[in-house]
Amino acid sequence: MDLASEELHILFFPLLTPGHMIPMVDMAKLFAARGVRATVLTTPANAAAVHSTINRADDSLRHRITVALLHFPSSAAVDCENMSCLPTQVARQNFLGCLASLCQPFDQVLREIRPDCIVADMFYPWTLGLAKELGIPLLFFHGMSLLALSVSHSMNRPKPPLESLPDDPETVVILGLPRRIELKRSQIPDLSKISSFLGDFFRQLGEAEMGCSGVLVNSFYELEPDFADHYKKVAGRKTWPVGPVSLCNKDFDEKSSRGDTACLDSANCLSWLDCKPPSSVLYVCFGSLFQFSPAQLREMALGFEASNTPFIWVVRNKSSEWLPEGYEQRVLGGGKGMIIRGWAPQILILNHPAVGGFLTHCGWNSCLEAATSGLPMVTWPLFADQFVNERLIVDVLKVGIGVGATEYVVEEEKVSVVKGDVIARVVSRVMGGGEEAEGMRKRARELGVMARKAVEVGGSSYVAMGELIKELNEAKAAREES
Ligand code: UDP
Repeated sequence: MDLASEELHILFFPLLTPGHMIPMVDMAKLFAARGVRATVLTTPANAAAVHSTINRADDSLRHRITVALLHFPSSAAVDCENMSCLPTQVARQNFLGCLASLCQPFDQVLREIRPDCIVADMFYPWTLGLAKELGIPLLFFHGMSLLALSVSHSMNRPKPPLESLPDDPETVVILGLPRRIELKRSQIPDLSKISSFLGDFFRQLGEAEMGCSGVLVNSFYELEPDFADHYKKVAGRKTWPVGPVSLCNKDFDEKSSRGDTACLDSANCLSWLDCKPPSSVLYVCFGSLFQFSPAQLREMALGFEASNTPFIWVVRNKSSEWLPEGYEQRVLGGGKGMIIRGWAPQILILNHPAVGGFLTHCGWNSCLEAATSGLPMVTWPLFADQFVNERLIVDVLKVGIGVGATEYVVEEEKVSVVKGDVIARVVSRVMGGGEEAEGMRKRARELGVMARKAVEVGGSSYVAMGELIKELNEAKAAREES
């Protein structure tokens, strides 16, 4: 067979955490839908979650996607193979530090598979050297917004361009961005102080990025055009916003199996929502990693009750001793709220007509999924890029209000508790009927329409993906000719 006529083959290698695996598997499906052969590389303990998503895809996609496995070497001190099993920030940082041990097994897999392109998670900067050695183009996937990429590019300089406000030295403006972005000093971590791994890691990543063939982004141009243009210019590398990738999940099965099906009861939660008036319910979820203290959970429970807003709340803690007295009968039993323990079918919930808002930790997938569903947000960032995403939601897009979280979480037990009355006030502002809430709802709905257009034939993300595939096909043909 003429090699050049063989289909393009892309290897996807996501970080072992739901917030990176889910969008990368979605990406593999999107590329497969455009005629590409995709391989998703993961470890044995993560294979079931990837298979469960791929197995529910359309027949025509399924046969184009393969799952390949690589093992942690026995010397790597990992207790589990996914960051969502690790209960603390410290344990998750240690896990990130072990990832470089995958370098040698990755090298072996790469030599066997020999794909035409690698989409590697940013947490694997060492993949670039191996890709270069074999002459394979490599794109990085950061799992971040274009605003967060722009900020991270600024902050990785030896002297970050920050200016304190004259009347409030605790607040800084990040200079050189196309829009004014203000953060509290306490929201910006000194990564090298938090963990020696993270400090070194960002230096390594910066160097690796200089040599990669580009950056794939789960966002769409119209959502953050200024930052898309800015990042491309200052970072000096090709950038392909191809999202929102979650929109590749079309039917009920695909949406309900996304990520993990272990503890979900989709039917139960959807029938609960079916009984609620349109746009009345607040969905509350803090992503796949973070666990709050019992004291904070109790304040949340009181806050939701006081806001008088029906809610679906995903709680990762197993215990219930933090529930206020009588809460089960008064609130949960009374149909005013539902608690999901473990994993929720987030995309199904966000798209249910009864859901009118999302209280989110501002993980990028969650922000984008809410915007795609046309929902306003209550924002409660905790760590990583979440404080920057909050600025996009609240200040730039004006589709959310923050609870006032100001501390980047380094150790869970040191975080101050946000009181129930504060939570109730912000929830009521977002879910209420006044001019402010109506304005947010209208803007959010418009974002939802724009998001869908972006991935339709001819939309900005659709076109970007087509251009990338064309470029990769040309590079493949040139390699095969030489
Ligand atoms: N998610 C879900 N059900 C849950 C929790 C999370 O489907 O109970 C999905 C959510 O839709 C998103 C991802 O997991 O796609 C979480 O990514 P995000 O960037 O929002 O947060 P992280 O988990 O990385 O902090």
